[in-house]
Amino acid sequence: MRLALVAVLVLAAALMFAAFVWADQRTANELGRLMILEYHKVDYPEDRWTRTPENFRRDLETLYARGYRLQSLNALLDGRITVPAGTTPVVLTFDDSSPGQFRYVETNGALEIDPKCAVGILEAFLHEKPDFGRAATFYVLPGASKPNRLFNQPEYEGKKLQYLVSHGYEIGNHTLWHANLGKYDEAVVRLQIAEAQQWIQRHVPDYKIRTIALPHGVYPREVAWALRGSAKGTAYEHDAILMVAGGAALSPFARGFDPMRLPRIQVLERDLASWLAWFDKHPQERFVSDGDAATVTVPADRREKLKPDVKLRVIEK
Ligand SMILES: [Zn+2]
Repeated sequence: MRLALVAVLVLAAALMFAAFVWADQRTANELGRLMILEYHKVDYPEDRWTRTPENFRRDLETLYARGYRLQSLNALLDGRITVPAGTTPVVLTFDDSSPGQFRYVETNGALEIDPKCAVGILEAFLHEKPDFGRAATFYVLPGASKPNRLFNQPEYEGKKLQYLVSHGYEIGNHTLWHANLGKYDEAVVRLQIAEAQQWIQRHVPDYKIRTIALPHGVYPREVAWALRGSAKGTAYEHDAILMVAGGAALSPFARGFDPMRLPRIQVLERDLASWLAWFDKHPQERFVSDGDAATVTVPADRREKLKPDVKLRVIEK
C-alpha cells in the first residue's frame, strides 16, 4: 500500500516535470513574425539616434535571455533559418557607419577592436554565449563626410570591411553619401547606388552586396532603380530593400512577405521593450524555429498563410 503511494507520488512528480519542460520549450511556428532591429550610433549620451555601449550590451543580454538568436539577413531572405529549435531569429542592422559601430584602438602598441564599440561588444558577448550566433548587417557610407565615412578611421577602412566579411557579418548598400533618393532623377539614383558598391568593393572585391537600406527611408520615384541596374560600369542587384520603420517583419514563408519593403524596428529603449512585451503577450504571433533549415513548420490552422512558392518540406503541427 505504502509502495503504491510512493509510486503514485513519483509518477506525479515526473508528470509535473514533463509539463514544466514542455512549457519551457516553445512550439515551432515558422509563420510567426520577427524583428529586424536597427541601430545608428553606439555612443554617448543615449538619445533618439544613439544607444550607449552599456545599453547595447544589455539589449544583447535581453534578447539572448528571451530566446532570440542572431540570424543573418541574407540567409533569412533565402528562407534558410539556421537558429536552433525553439528560438526566434532576430536580425541586427547598423546604419551610417558611425565611429562607435567599429573602432580600432592601440593598446600597448597592439591594434585591437575597441571593446566599447558595437563590433567589440558583440564579439565579447559571443565569446561568452557562442550559441547567440554571429550575424549583423552594416549599411555603410563609403563617400560620406566625417564622421560617417566607413567608421571614420581612413587608415583602417579596408581592414574593417575585410574583418566584417571574413567574420560572417554582412555589408549593405546605403548609397554613397546618404542621398535622399526621392529627390533625384534616375541617373543620380543609380550613380549613388553603383558608386557605393564600387567603393566598398575596392576593399572587398568579391563581396556581393545583396541588400539596400534607404537613406531616410525614402524610396526613389521608381522602386526598380534601387533594385537593379548599372552606372559607371558597375552593375548592382539587390534582393531586398529595407525601410527605417514599420514594426516586426512577416515570416519569409508568409504570404505577403515583401522583400521590397522590409520593415525594421529602431532600437529605442521603449520601442524594443514594447515589442518584446507584445511577443510575450501574443506568443502565437512569434516566429519560432523548428531547428531544421530544410523544413518549414507551420501551425495546421494557418496553413493557408503559407506562401505558395515555398520549396522546402512543410510540416504541420
Ligand atoms: Zn542612414
